[in-house]
Amino acid sequence: MKVLVLNCGSSSLKYQLINLNDESVLCKGLVERIGIDGSILKHEKDGLDEKYVVEVAMNDHKEAIGHVLKAVADPKVGAVKEMSEIDAVGHRIVHGGEKFASSAVLTDEVIKAIEDCVELAPLHNPANLMGVDACKAILPDVPQVGVFDTAFHQSMPQESFLYGLPYELYTKYGIRRYGFHGVSHLYVSQKAAEMLGKAPEDLKIITCHLGNGASVTAVNGGKSVDTSMGLTPLEGLIMGTRCGDIDPAIVPLVMKKEGLDADGIDKLMNKESGVYGMTGISSDFRDIEDAANEGNERAKMTLDAYAQKVKKYIGAYAAEMNGVDAIVFTAGLGENGISMREMICKDMDFMGINLDLEKNNVRGKERIISSDDSKVKVLLIPTNEELMIARDTLNLVK
Ligand code: ADP
Repeated sequence: MKVLVLNCGSSSLKYQLINLNDESVLCKGLVERIGIDGSILKHEKDGLDEKYVVEVAMNDHKEAIGHVLKAVADPKVGAVKEMSEIDAVGHRIVHGGEKFASSAVLTDEVIKAIEDCVELAPLHNPANLMGVDACKAILPDVPQVGVFDTAFHQSMPQESFLYGLPYELYTKYGIRRYGFHGVSHLYVSQKAAEMLGKAPEDLKIITCHLGNGASVTAVNGGKSVDTSMGLTPLEGLIMGTRCGDIDPAIVPLVMKKEGLDADGIDKLMNKESGVYGMTGISSDFRDIEDAANEGNERAKMTLDAYAQKVKKYIGAYAAEMNGVDAIVFTAGLGENGISMREMICKDMDFMGINLDLEKNNVRGKERIISSDDSKVKVLLIPTNEELMIARDTLNLVK
């Protein structure tokens, strides 16, 4: 059984072809600048000396997916002899609103329901849908499945997802917390249970997905009960370029002071804030750590503020769940940020968190990094959203 996993952004597309018999990645790649000058596809396969690159104009997602399928079925660089060997396509869909608590086969009815969620994710859902349309046109007989970033968080109780706003805003417009990165939070929480030799039902886990976008989730008994991202992926932690939690009164004040309209303030909070806006250096933690090591005070202060925010959520979620058995770090910074993990876990012994600094001195490996006597286990688990999407796709089309 071979599943093509697609993650479509507005001008980019990531793909992996996964063999579900042994869960191996047969090939993978990335298309950038779709619909813009300089479209480029970079394709990788184990055993290829270097990446296979295609540089031709790709005016839309359909053309891009055409080139992806050509590469995937290419006799030299591909991983299948014919396109018909692709048994199903799994699409990452960002927002499923309240309609999807699990993945779904992409029937016309389901696609209509995703279109209804565009208002909630105007930047992401239209791009995801372009990928679905393109695949349906090119591979009309292959089943397609949508896997939602929001689905895992649909188990949150009302007290976690309602805002302190007039209730009618929820009933009229669906304004509530949805949460994101669900595929990743689910994957690492299940993996953590496996590594600890326990059933997910018996564990209270706090999962920290720290990438460009970042979120923390409280997973109680295998279910998401609270998460830091909200109606959109802007709420919660300080991120690469997103501000995370702020006093909402800042919004009208800055709009007035800086003469910004709604789009202007949205751009400021999504693209010009976070560690990028705070340091004025970069959204990449490697650059900020370098600057901090060279004595840049703003960089140091930003790293402190970032760590403190993660710590705050860990404390809050432990309180919400009446305890915590394990904390998981994942995604770019969570997997590679040795000093950031140390800063976050520092001075948390009061609640039974003791990081083993030697075990923590590792990047991108599945491992328990707390000391043997730490009451709360700390785990480093590289996320694998593509595998999760492929597994769900297989389960639904089987
Ligand atoms: P996304 O998938 O959200 O784009 P990733 O999960 O790939 O993001 O995470 C990207 C972030 O991970 C980068 O901004 C970078 O700061 C951080 N990162 C990657 N490698 C390292 C490293 N070696 N040390 C510290 N941070 C790192």
